Amino acid sequence: MADQHRTFDLAVVGGGAVGLSCAWRAARAGLSVVLLEQDEFFGDRASSAGVERQWRFQYSDEEMTRLVLAAVPLWRELEEAAGRRLIHTTGSLWFGEVAESTNEGHISDAAKVLERLDLPFEWVTAAEIERRFGFRDLPGHYEGFYQPGGGVIDVKGTLFALYCQARAAGADLRERQRVTGLAVTGDGVRLSTGAGTLTAGRLVVAGGAYSGELLRSWGVEFKVEIYEMATAYFQVRDPSVDYPTWFAFQKPAETDSNLFYGFGQSPWGPRGTIRVAPDFEVDPLHSPREADGTPRAADLRRTADWVRRHMPGLDPEPLRPSTCLIALPADPGRDFYLGTVPEGTAGAGRVVVCAAGWMFKFAPLFGQICVDLAVDGATSHDISRLTFGR
Ligand SMILES: Cc1cc2nc3c(=O)[nH]c(=O)nc-3n(C[C@H](O)[C@H](O)[C@H](O)COP(=O)(O)OP(=O)(O)OC[C@H]3O[C@@H](n4cnc5c(N)ncnc54)[C@H](O)[C@@H]3O)c2cc1C
Repeated sequence: MADQHRTFDLAVVGGGAVGLSCAWRAARAGLSVVLLEQDEFFGDRASSAGVERQWRFQYSDEEMTRLVLAAVPLWRELEEAAGRRLIHTTGSLWFGEVAESTNEGHISDAAKVLERLDLPFEWVTAAEIERRFGFRDLPGHYEGFYQPGGGVIDVKGTLFALYCQARAAGADLRERQRVTGLAVTGDGVRLSTGAGTLTAGRLVVAGGAYSGELLRSWGVEFKVEIYEMATAYFQVRDPSVDYPTWFAFQKPAETDSNLFYGFGQSPWGPRGTIRVAPDFEVDPLHSPREADGTPRAADLRRTADWVRRHMPGLDPEPLRPSTCLIALPADPGRDFYLGTVPEGTAGAGRVVVCAAGWMFKFAPLFGQICVDLAVDGATSHDISRLTFGR
């Protein structure tokens, strides 16, 4: 069968932001790389779907903010190579219940981290948020901060830039090739796909929500919850209305986590609509293959109610509703899985995993870290919170 005798230095499973970043960094370092993607590149069925992601420095844990800072030079390198801007600075506004812990973090703790690392921010009250940023009818005790370095990432532009850079550096990028089996060989890993088998010295699994399908057969503990998250756009009533990227931290409602976030008018796309979405972890899927792209009506209704009540500059009728698949670590104290599979499991020392969590902003850095772990077995970055068995 095809490729039976071809051996690559590195194989990558998954052609989302992380897998493409791995291929870019590995090929650029002179490794022979093959990347296998089960769907088409730039599709909307996995976690790198849609057109925008939030860029932010604030995290409740200092190590995470340090990783964002470490990602910046790689983003600049990618932007330079692609000849276009991929991160657009619009500012980032976090507001609401300042002591509420959520899957996105904690306002007060994140402000302390910004202060410790000497990153600029302004503390704002509910009245100031309404006056300066166009929100309305916020509970009077809501507060938060505005961080001017936050912004919005151009998702499709990033994926295309990564794809082009990886290819130009010699990576073999294959779409519509699902990896159905992994086996350890004498000095590497063998991957089975519908098109045949191939071998590689090292493997990175960057399969997003699907990563568990491959890892569980090796007994790797990969504990995640998988959700299909709703999202929608809303028509701007007055063209002068705009917002920074924002996240509202609220006390959970009876039915959901009551968290909402959104963007301003797209700096690269047609103006006139703005994305607002709920961040509700409800109805986890048993398998990512159950996802059907249909948002829950209740999630859209709740988001429309938030817009109606708090964002008078927008028409509250949801437009272009869709979903995005996400796997989140089941342990709320863990942000991601990033590391070599643990000793005692098949693939130890040869297989690196990078999956689960809100990681688009880290993609170029995590790609580099995966390559360093796969090739050298180590990274200079502090990822101790993210490794297996920590
Ligand atoms: C609604 C939503 C909002 C988000 N907001 C933010 C944000 O504001 N900021 C941020 O930083 N992050 C955010 N994220 C998270 C971010 O989008 C993801 O962390 C990131 O896109 C993950 O990229 P990935 O490459 O790891 O996974 P994916 O994009 O899911 O890519 C994995 C790929 O692997 C392929 N694959 C899987 N199994 C196989 C197999 N066996 N064989 C071949 N191919 C396979 C899949 O088809 C898929 O294309 C958000 C996510 C969602 C859903």
